[in-house]
Amino acid sequence: MHHFRYTGPNLQCESVDLAEVARLYGTPTYVYSAATMADNYARLAGSLTGLDVQLCYAMKANSNLAVLRHFANLGAAFDLVSGGELRRVIAAGADVKRSVFAGVGKTEGEIKLALENGIFSFHVESEPELARINHVAGQLGVKAPIAIRINPDVDAHTHAKITTGKSDNKFGIPLKYAAAAYEAAAKYPYLALKGVQMHIGSQLTEVGPFVEAVGKVAPFAAELKAKFGISYFSIGGGIGIVYREALASGAQTWWDTQPEGTRPLTPEVYGAALVPRLKGLGLKILLEPGRFMVGNAGVLLSRVEHLKRGAGKNFLIVDAAMNDLVRPAMYESYHEIVPLHRDSSRRALVADVVGPICESGDCFAKDRQLQEVGEGELIAFMSAGAYGYAMSSRYNTRGMAAEVLVKDSAFELINGRETFEQMTGGEKIPAFLK
Ligand SMILES: *Cc1c(COP(=O)(O)O)cnc(C)c1O
Repeated sequence: MHHFRYTGPNLQCESVDLAEVARLYGTPTYVYSAATMADNYARLAGSLTGLDVQLCYAMKANSNLAVLRHFANLGAAFDLVSGGELRRVIAAGADVKRSVFAGVGKTEGEIKLALENGIFSFHVESEPELARINHVAGQLGVKAPIAIRINPDVDAHTHAKITTGKSDNKFGIPLKYAAAAYEAAAKYPYLALKGVQMHIGSQLTEVGPFVEAVGKVAPFAAELKAKFGISYFSIGGGIGIVYREALASGAQTWWDTQPEGTRPLTPEVYGAALVPRLKGLGLKILLEPGRFMVGNAGVLLSRVEHLKRGAGKNFLIVDAAMNDLVRPAMYESYHEIVPLHRDSSRRALVADVVGPICESGDCFAKDRQLQEVGEGELIAFMSAGAYGYAMSSRYNTRGMAAEVLVKDSAFELINGRETFEQMTGGEKIPAFLK
């Protein structure tokens, strides 16, 4: 369940009126629900019953320090992809020693930082990376814990830009070369073979591809355990969330809105399908969910600048833009858009909902039907907690949005709106132009 509801005419996050948040902190502002994140954590961590599960939240989805601290308090570890993310885990007061380091191009500096902080394991994506990690570990005189990412060549049936488990993606090592890669890894003096990893894509909407991929990799994981004594199998992240009718359904995943028996994927369906295929292995199972943990726990608040009525087309121009929430422009993705103040006496409006940026791509929705709203009124983009703020930019010299965390009736700014001075503070005019 998520915790965004209308109470009377007003949209609330837990017990907080979202219009109050906008009044205090302005717009555009991301608002996150601590209770929703806690529900998501509990539900997914509990889905693989009977297995030894270590949940590593894929923090690239939303890496605000308060969000990380909240998940750490709940018991999560982290899946991180850069030295910057590693420093965030430390800054949040969370545990690097249970966290894993993924990514296709880790630098020597990042590897060193991770080793110095006792990373649980590196998820290695290529043979040259084995050599590099071995080299850095040798300089420090330690053994680097590693797992190799296997590309199981499974079609995740998701958007091309977020499919990662097909043989033509840049990720991982094909299963047919994986045995040789482990043989090669075992010869390096400063590597310790700890596990095996896969991650086939994001926003998956059916359990079939997970079953297929685990089915392909599990027998290999058993071989690795027998031969090298590996201790874990990371099955990645990728569980999708509901984007359509996110508010009305109150559902945690789209599948919860479907009749029982016809739900292609819920944490329970995921667990029921995968536990039988994993439990005989005797390995710790790592999960790396990102989107599922935070996606429906966040909204982006925005204010209407103008309602521009055109010939045969209306434009609702709002103060959020593609720099704040790039998913619609980048993946043609859908976000439900709702008014903060619901008024059934208003007429319906069909409009393109657009930001003020000078790009035709700065469009959140085409021909969207919503309650008529006018200048100064507030709207929310639902399901914006994952890959929202985390993918935002300063394009058009628009400062990064503010972020607020709600817990019950309390709320606090967890990231102030970026000022002009913060944005331009690192820039300077060279002497030869003066
Ligand atoms: C991005 C990523 C994840 C998280 O994906 P979600 O779809 O957000 O769950 C997990 N593992 C790896 C290796 C990733 O790159």
